[in-house]
Amino acid sequence: MTKYLLEHDRPNCIGCAACAAVSPKRWEMNEDGKSDIRSGKQREDGWQELEIDEDDKDFEEDQTAAEACPVNVIHLKNKDTGEKII
Ligand code: SF4
Repeated sequence: MTKYLLEHDRPNCIGCAACAAVSPKRWEMNEDGKSDIRSGKQREDGWQELEIDEDDKDFEEDQTAAEACPVNVIHLKNKDTGEKII
């Protein structure tokens, strides 16, 4: 099963809330005006990440949310090959 890494370049998030509107199960808005990946891991560089499986029922929605971000700070990459799909 292919594993993907959902990444959020949080320092560059402009807080438009599109991700939370498209995928409320995965995204929530924080009091500081930026979004957070629910249950995501906070990295030292300020980014957040979450490992997901390709057959996760929300995977399609993850791609839609990433495509909906107007400043392209949501990324999905193949965890094994490092290939970035968004
Ligand atoms: S869609 Fe992008 S810019 Fe807007 S809140 Fe989500 S991550 Fe931030």
